[in-house]
Amino acid sequence: MIIASNVSKKFGKLKALDNVSVTCNKGECIALIGPNGSGKTTLIKVILGMVICDSGFITFNGKNILHDWLYRTNIGYMPQIGRYPDNMTIGQVLEMMKDIRKNENIGLDEELIILFGLNELMHKRMRTLSGGTRQKVSAALAFLFNAEVLILDEPTAGLDPVSAEILKDKILAEKKKGKLILVTSHILSELDDLVTQVIYMQDGSIRFHKSIELLRTDTGQEKLSKAIAAVMLQR
Ligand code: ADP
Ligand code: MG
Repeated sequence: MIIASNVSKKFGKLKALDNVSVTCNKGECIALIGPNGSGKTTLIKVILGMVICDSGFITFNGKNILHDWLYRTNIGYMPQIGRYPDNMTIGQVLEMMKDIRKNENIGLDEELIILFGLNELMHKRMRTLSGGTRQKVSAALAFLFNAEVLILDEPTAGLDPVSAEILKDKILAEKKKGKLILVTSHILSELDDLVTQVIYMQDGSIRFHKSIELLRTDTGQEKLSKAIAAVMLQR
C-alpha cells in the first residue's frame, strides 16, 4: 500500500534518512520506534509529501506520490505537534477542515469529538487550549474523514490517562476494520495490544522491520519494551 524505496533526506550535513526502504501493507498496525532524532517524524513527513526526499521515492497504491497528491485523501494524519490558527475556535478549525476535505465527507467519523467532550469546547480559541486539548483536536481531525490509512505521530503524548485509553480503543477499532495504521510512540507499553509489526529506526536507518510474533519468538519476550531491549542487546 505504501512503499518507500531507498529514501534519503539530509538536513545540511545531517542524514535524517539514510537509504530507507520499507513496505507498509493494508491491515497492519505498524509501530515506528527509535530514539529521539532517529528520523521517525521525517519518514512520516516524506510519506505525506510534507518533506521531499533527496533521493529515492514513495509509492501509494503503486503510484509515485510525486505525480498524484490526491493520495492524501486516503490518509488521516495526527502530527506530533499540531499547529492551528491561534484565533480560530475549535469549532471553526473543524468546520474549515471539513470544508477543505468536503469531497471526502462520505460518512464523517465524529466519535472522538464526542468521546473527548470537544462538543462543549467548540467556542474556545486554539491559543487558549492546553497541550492535551490541542492533542484531542489533532486526534479528532485525524479520524474525522474515515481514511483507510492512519498515520499517528506520538498520538498519546500529553493526553491524560483516560483520554489516552479512549484514543487507544479508537485505534484498535479502526485496525479491526482493516485499515493501515502507522504509529510512533515513546511509551512502548501503550503499543503492546495494538501493533502487528515493528519498525526500529536508528540514525536515519531501519535497524529491523519484523512482525510482533517473530520479535516475540526471537527474543522470548512477551512485552514489546523487553523484546526491543533484547534485540538491541543481541547486536
Ligand atoms: P524523530 O521523530 O525520530 O525524533 P526526526 O525525524 O524529527 O526524529 O528528526 C531526525 C533528525 O533530523 C533530527 O536530528 C532532527 O533534528 C533533524 N531534523 C528534522 N527536521 C528538520 C528540519 N526541518 N531542519 C533541520 N533538521 C531537521
Ligand atoms: Mg518525532
